Amino acid sequence: MKLTMLGTGHAVVTNYYNTCFILDDDGKLFLTDTGGGNMLLSRLEKAGYSWRDIHEIFISHKHTDHLLGVFWLIRMYLSGFGRGSLKEAVNIYAHEEVISIIRQTALLLFGDKFAACTENGLNLITVRDGEERIINGHRFTFFDIHADKDLQFGYCMDMGGGEKFTFCGDEPLKECCFGYGRDSRWLLHEAFCIVSPPGMPDLKKIGHSAVKDACRLAEELKVQNLILYHTEDGDPGNRKKLYTEEGLRYYSGNLLVPEDLETVVLD
Ligand SMILES: [Zn+2]
Repeated sequence: MKLTMLGTGHAVVTNYYNTCFILDDDGKLFLTDTGGGNMLLSRLEKAGYSWRDIHEIFISHKHTDHLLGVFWLIRMYLSGFGRGSLKEAVNIYAHEEVISIIRQTALLLFGDKFAACTENGLNLITVRDGEERIINGHRFTFFDIHADKDLQFGYCMDMGGGEKFTFCGDEPLKECCFGYGRDSRWLLHEAFCIVSPPGMPDLKKIGHSAVKDACRLAEELKVQNLILYHTEDGDPGNRKKLYTEEGLRYYSGNLLVPEDLETVVLD
């Protein structure tokens, strides 16, 4: 299995795309979040994927930097289903509020075409806190991350043999969810910046972590591989170096700070 980061930035970055990524298990694809817009299509193309091949999508929450790209995908799916060139069902998973927003917005934007497709292959699927589903042959457990801002879900995927791949969304993992993160083979966690220098917002107020916070947490939870994302973009050329140096002071496992379009083999 491999993971490609389509974007690694927070909501209003300009040097990166917003955080979203694709899991590729021998050609079976699972897209997590969609970024803020049309750039998703070019990111997919540059990563070597076609929207046609993505049939499983998860949206973590309603913020524009995670949600709005899905409407570009839906636009493509509508034309694919309409022309008959897309045959296989497309499943979009999210909690109830996000599913409702997608449904209402897509109806306003695309009208009858959308309504027809939801009866013929485009499935909006509500997931609940703690719900398990088998997707692409893996058991996914979706969970409420108890975000301070809006309702947000993450998930824990069984990679096989009980090895956990845990996506924590874009707020710090709360203590009530440590069970999902603990002993993960792979943990994906947000980190806004290395420290909180002048000019940076108060991280607690905006519901984000510094690199050291995420790394301390991963150390405590005995995570084997930690991927940091959803960052600021003030010094993009040096981000990997600076974040890695900072993070390894607090974390003894394998720390990755991927760039947009970087692929990580999940061994
Ligand atoms: Zn975000």
